[in-house]
Amino acid sequence: MSIAIAIDGPAGAGKSSLSKAVAKELSFIYVDTGALYRTIGLSALRKGFDKNDTEQIVEMLNGIDVNLAFNDEGTQIVLLNGEDVSSYIRTPEVSMFASSVSAIPEVRGFLLDLQRGMAKKNNVIMDGRDIGTVVLPQAKIKIFLTASPETRAMRRYKENLEKGINCKYEDVLKDVNDRDFADSHREIAPLKPAKDSIIVDTSEYDFEGSKQLLLKVIKENM
Ligand code: C5P
Repeated sequence: MSIAIAIDGPAGAGKSSLSKAVAKELSFIYVDTGALYRTIGLSALRKGFDKNDTEQIVEMLNGIDVNLAFNDEGTQIVLLNGEDVSSYIRTPEVSMFASSVSAIPEVRGFLLDLQRGMAKKNNVIMDGRDIGTVVLPQAKIKIFLTASPETRAMRRYKENLEKGINCKYEDVLKDVNDRDFADSHREIAPLKPAKDSIIVDTSEYDFEGSKQLLLKVIKENM
């Protein structure tokens, strides 16, 4: 039987980078489910749809294929109709589209089998918003990874500057707060800790400290 570790939490808590690092340490596969919602958001954006046009977006699902693959370094790539779109899904515009499409029940249903299939075949660390509550409720360990909005915004702001993306801290903080609100107030699969999840707050830790904390919690609960 494969082992699943679910890591949920708000945008910018460090879920992706920490999950990736911890997965490497444990020799598990890391599955970033946000990338799947981003891919559907990108598809709607490319088609010129309004991000709130549910009808068009649901209709679009009949004509697209979304899949996951892993490159030689074990890094996940996302495929939209066979095209590797991994480098197009990280823009702020796609983030907002991803947040909108993820509130549509049909979109969530569309991605469910793909996510569960990954966990059936492999030992996974899967990160998202509803992994412990909806996708893998039977996961061996459920972690709700969080940090204060200001800490999360500051991390993302620094990341952007390092990547050469020009932005203002206030705008990043607003984006973090807007997405938190949207993700935790939607009717379907709202962002909330599973009843049996372990809350891990990384506000006081740097990357290495957060990684060690996460590994400790996982090892204690394995
Ligand atoms: O994690 P990331 O920021 O890449 O996720 C992009 C968007 O996809 C989030 O704003 C969230 O609304 C949505 N999402 C979701 N369920 C998941 C993963 C992501 O609704 N399991």
